[in-house]
Amino acid sequence: MFGFLKKGLKKTVEAIQSTTPVKREKIGRDELEDLLLEADVSYDLVEKIVESLPETVKRIQLYNTLISLFMYSAEKIEPHGEKPFVELIVGVNGAGKTTTIAKLAQRYKSEGKTVLLGAADTFRAAAIEQLKTWAEKIDVPIVYTKQGHDPSAVAYDAINSAKAKQIDHVIIDTAGRLHTQTNLAEELKKIVRVCGKAMEGAPHRKILILDGTQGNSAINQAKAFKEMIDIDGIIITKLDGTAKGGALFSIAEELKLPIYYVGVGEKAEDLIPFDPKEFVNTILD
Ligand code: GDP
Repeated sequence: MFGFLKKGLKKTVEAIQSTTPVKREKIGRDELEDLLLEADVSYDLVEKIVESLPETVKRIQLYNTLISLFMYSAEKIEPHGEKPFVELIVGVNGAGKTTTIAKLAQRYKSEGKTVLLGAADTFRAAAIEQLKTWAEKIDVPIVYTKQGHDPSAVAYDAINSAKAKQIDHVIIDTAGRLHTQTNLAEELKKIVRVCGKAMEGAPHRKILILDGTQGNSAINQAKAFKEMIDIDGIIITKLDGTAKGGALFSIAEELKLPIYYVGVGEKAEDLIPFDPKEFVNTILD
């Protein structure tokens, strides 16, 4: 399933597997360092990994070390109890928020669940229009308002509308203008507060969308959002057509947050649940 990510770590894999006919069971530390760097794992993390391993590294040790970086991905919050399950989607403009919202909605629909979208990026008229277009395309209801109106009001109305209609999932879009961070921080905090007023415990998941093609530079962006609101987990987009698989390790390790899904295309179906074991297995297979 994660075969498309393999390219970036291909050399690492090849080095470990290269000696035929028997798979090489060990690899030197220096060599491992070079290979992980080539695979776009950040320098700091490579150092950390290499230092934690002996002079020659057994495959199984490398596997265990890599998998341990994703320990936060093991825990998942699933919908339970009262409807709706509310998800707040944050991230910078262009990261893939709108598209990912459509993908999540499509996924829930295909599981037989009902979904309602909230267009709370009221800062950009285009964002409202884009989400409306997606809502029409995947045939789910949407709550929206005019550009410039209070985004918290949209979130509040979306949750109440879903409560009244007994809808399973509410997915709320937010603004991503990181250049005016202070305003955005206040805006996001208020949306979170108001969600809680509309429904106790909401939003149940605050998900950060990161552009996978940005590799390690997405980490700083993520830290900025983490400071604004308490992010629960990440979705990494645009991992198709790029081989920055190594960046996933750095993102998971640096942010200490679960990766829920990865985006692998522009269509509503192009969202894959992230399974750390499967990912590391594919890479070391
Ligand atoms: P937003 O500004 O954060 O809402 O970002 P959009 O959802 O508008 O996405 C920005 C661009 O990235 C659009 O052209 C999307 O089609 C594209 N995009 C989003 N997710 C993916 C993905 O997983 N793969 C690819 N190839 N493109 C994506």
